[in-house]
Amino acid sequence: MNIGGMVKSTFLDYPGKIACVLFTQGCSYDCFYCHNRELVASKGTLLGQEKVGTFLDSRKDLLQGVVISGGEPTLQPDLPDYCSWIKEKGFLVKLDTNGNSPEVLEKLLFLQLVDYIALDVKAPWERYGEICGKGARPQTVIESLSLLKGSNICWETRTTVAPTLGKTDLRKIACQMPKVPLWRLNRYRLPACYKKDEEKKIHTPAPDCFEVQGWIDELKIFQGAIVTFSK
Ligand code: SF4
Repeated sequence: MNIGGMVKSTFLDYPGKIACVLFTQGCSYDCFYCHNRELVASKGTLLGQEKVGTFLDSRKDLLQGVVISGGEPTLQPDLPDYCSWIKEKGFLVKLDTNGNSPEVLEKLLFLQLVDYIALDVKAPWERYGEICGKGARPQTVIESLSLLKGSNICWETRTTVAPTLGKTDLRKIACQMPKVPLWRLNRYRLPACYKKDEEKKIHTPAPDCFEVQGWIDELKIFQGAIVTFSK
């Protein structure tokens, strides 16, 4: 596994658990607002398995879970073995994914190697390429949603309310998704680095907290449990 970084403890990333976060390198998407450009570009020093193992062993009594985030973790060929290794150490495993690899998701679910999945639904299907770049294929996200829907795992979907996404887009997402257990709407934060030709979009004001809050009642007609701006 190419682990490019780690957050040693967090209360925010694994619902109800104290966890650490491991960030994998590389991504199949190219979201204009990405906060992890260095990871996506697969640059930087890697955190070896031995080091991660030593850290986890030293936190056995303090941490309950390990979040595998990215980048996009499902691009790592040894993800199933890595999840199994973490579980053998006694930790719960949460996976953050953009949903681009339903076949990997299926394997993880079948082998019961993850305990919680957060799936990004980044835009209405027809705007995926525009928001997430050419590598994004909404059909795979639709397949991932269907796999999660048919599983008995804990899961949620997440949408960053990014610039250019408005009420109409969120309503479309709410209608396009099957009914999900939890839909988390995350606040847009200006990324520290971005592509020069995305500058205008990056600085376009995103809908603010009050605006989005005002849309919730309508969104709830299609999706019940919605959490806004949790981070
Ligand atoms: S899915 Fe998008 S936001 Fe997430 S790491 Fe990949 S490019 Fe960045």
